[in-house]
Amino acid sequence: MGQFKNFIGGEWVEGEAVIRNINPSDITDLVGEYAAAGAAQTKAAIEAAAAAFPAWSMTTPQQRFDILDAAGSEILARKEELGRLLAREEGKPLADGIGEATRAGHIFKFFAGEAVRIEGTALASIRPGIDINVMREPMGVVGLITPWNFPIAIPAWKMAPALAFGNTVVLKPAELVPGSAYAIVEILSRAGLPKGVVNLVMGKGSIVGQAMLDSPHVNAVSFTGSTGTGARVAEACVKRGAKFQLEMGGKNPALVLDDADLSVAVNACLNSAFFQTGQRCTASSRIIVTKGVHDAFVEQMVAAMKTLKVDNALEPGCQVGPVVDARQLAQDEKYIDIGRKEGAELAWGGERLNRATDGFFLQPALFVNTKNDMQINREEIFGPVATVIKVDSYEEGLAIANDTAFGLSAGVYTTSLKHAAHFRRNAKAGMVMVNLPTAGVDYHVPFGGTKGSSYGAREQGRQAVEFFTTTKTQYSFAG
Ligand code: NDP
Repeated sequence: MGQFKNFIGGEWVEGEAVIRNINPSDITDLVGEYAAAGAAQTKAAIEAAAAAFPAWSMTTPQQRFDILDAAGSEILARKEELGRLLAREEGKPLADGIGEATRAGHIFKFFAGEAVRIEGTALASIRPGIDINVMREPMGVVGLITPWNFPIAIPAWKMAPALAFGNTVVLKPAELVPGSAYAIVEILSRAGLPKGVVNLVMGKGSIVGQAMLDSPHVNAVSFTGSTGTGARVAEACVKRGAKFQLEMGGKNPALVLDDADLSVAVNACLNSAFFQTGQRCTASSRIIVTKGVHDAFVEQMVAAMKTLKVDNALEPGCQVGPVVDARQLAQDEKYIDIGRKEGAELAWGGERLNRATDGFFLQPALFVNTKNDMQINREEIFGPVATVIKVDSYEEGLAIANDTAFGLSAGVYTTSLKHAAHFRRNAKAGMVMVNLPTAGVDYHVPFGGTKGSSYGAREQGRQAVEFFTTTKTQYSFAG
């Protein structure tokens, strides 16, 4: 098997080291060997992007449309193959992998359209005879740093708007899952992009990511990942005046009220707490339940959890794949241990599972009798571990839902219009769901949170233009 190389200045380049991409469902399965870049290669990629920017920024919207649309078409045509690659390298069930690849194709097509729809504003001046135009211009070289849990969707939702609005790109995917990002860059490399417009540098965050943060030629950094790394990105960008946006963790509440349709609530909580192994920033990790329905809810959740098929991501019927790697598995187990020591009661799950292949399988776990001030309710676990917090009333539930350092997504399960409307207005989160899982969003609307979950302009949808462009205010006097 040959090495999958970095893409720098339009050339495929050997790395300075090798990343072994291992299937978490079957650790004997090597997905591929990928090139790890060092600081010098990262610098070369940034220089290539800087050199390509003047010409690329002057391309017509139609040229950018054609390239993004072609890339989107190829991704959609190959969605099964790309979804399978994703399922192998990250451990998402195959159907979810194909769904994510499909989403990436749709994202490229959406932003192809955005390239031609870019708007400016014409205003009258407060002074006579003067016209004002407020126009958007690209930022320049943008650095994109992505996490392991959405290996194709997140690189897509950062690269597509960056390119649509005329920026050049240096992408650093998570070292754990370089394969899906490699595949879309390979597709882009044949879609008509001039050399240097897109560059791929795989490798370690502490080397490649840091080199991007420190480079004076990277004008903007779009980051998705953990809160700790996000803080480092912010610090480095503030120091040198670069623009940045951060999408980080969550501790998303799901509030189940006495008047909920219980089957709707149980299905939504099961999905958002445990599907994709709970490794979604929008996963429900705190399930807050009013006392009238608490016992019935827990009983039905546990019954539903017992039927979940946890298995190799490629196995037909798999609903929950493996944890992504040994380090994340150790983190999940550490928090299960912490929960027990804090006095929470494990209603179900939390055990390691053996399957036909050697992978990181964990039985989804539900803690009951928990308090919101427990560590398991304060810190993001990022695995298939959820808690139940019993409350007396809607008001108490809302207060607990909002009592967190995070604010990405929040859900309420109720048949009361009054409570649904109140929650939509008063939940302190960037995305609010009524009778729907907290995870699972559309690609054509803004995505992002409040408080410790996000910083800067929103990603996705029409709002993506805010981050990937800057405005120029043009005054003209016709005489
Ligand atoms: P990390 O913060 O560990 O990594 C994210 C990216 O940052 C990776 O590419 C990583 O590289 C890179 N990185 C690490 N250190 C540095 C550094 N010093 N300088 C620059 N880049 C660096 O997050 P995970 O990959 O573990 O992803 C999980 C986290 O992402 C969770 O907290 C989750 O909530 C969050 N997330 C948030 C989303 C949102 O939109 N709000 C969506 C998806 C995930 P490498 O891995 O190669 O070391």
